[in-house]
Amino acid sequence: MKLLLFDIDGTLLQTNGAGTRAANRAFEKIYGIKEAMTKIDAAGKTDPIILKEIFLNEFNRDYAHEEAQELYKYYVPFLEEETGMSQTTVMPGIPRLLETLSLREDMILGVATGNIEQGAWIKLRSGGLDSHFSFGGFGSDSHIREHLILKAYERASDHIGNSIDIKKRFVIGDTPYDINHGRAAGAITVGVATGGYSRVDLEEHNPDYLFDDLSDLDSVVRIFE
Ligand SMILES: [Mg+2]
Repeated sequence: MKLLLFDIDGTLLQTNGAGTRAANRAFEKIYGIKEAMTKIDAAGKTDPIILKEIFLNEFNRDYAHEEAQELYKYYVPFLEEETGMSQTTVMPGIPRLLETLSLREDMILGVATGNIEQGAWIKLRSGGLDSHFSFGGFGSDSHIREHLILKAYERASDHIGNSIDIKKRFVIGDTPYDINHGRAAGAITVGVATGGYSRVDLEEHNPDYLFDDLSDLDSVVRIFE
């Protein structure tokens, strides 16, 4: 069995700012601060790391657990609202690729994303991609991407039953974080330049495979064989 773990933002889809607007609204609601999220470079970072950076930026301190819970309490419904009001863009070739891979009995699909779990499912639903996934590793599991990838491995084994051996693990993502943390977690890494990083940027991090996008179905499926 092979396990394929996809990053969400910039890899499967992009919400065209809905995530940023939802986070901005949560910060404004609780702290009266405008554009808190807009000031941060969030690509590839987990939600707890992003939160930490915003707190350092705005308050010069780290956040407390309760503050994160309070923010997420607003962020989640705001995200639902924002994704409902704007168009989520699914990256080239993704629907066809996921449909094809979902039919394979020797492969299972999951997500490995910095989004908290509730946020991840809202984003996947907004792109109509949620039906292809039933588990993953999330920013709510760990602030360290490597650890949430390991969590996804664990859930994959629970999902298919511990008697089935996962022989290869792939991490597919659009940032150096996906590549470096995927490698640290022992995965075969696949970079895709559909997010904020160019092919050249990603090449520096030596992914095992690198694509401009995932639209060439045959070439992409071949690497998972
Ligand atoms: Mg990403």
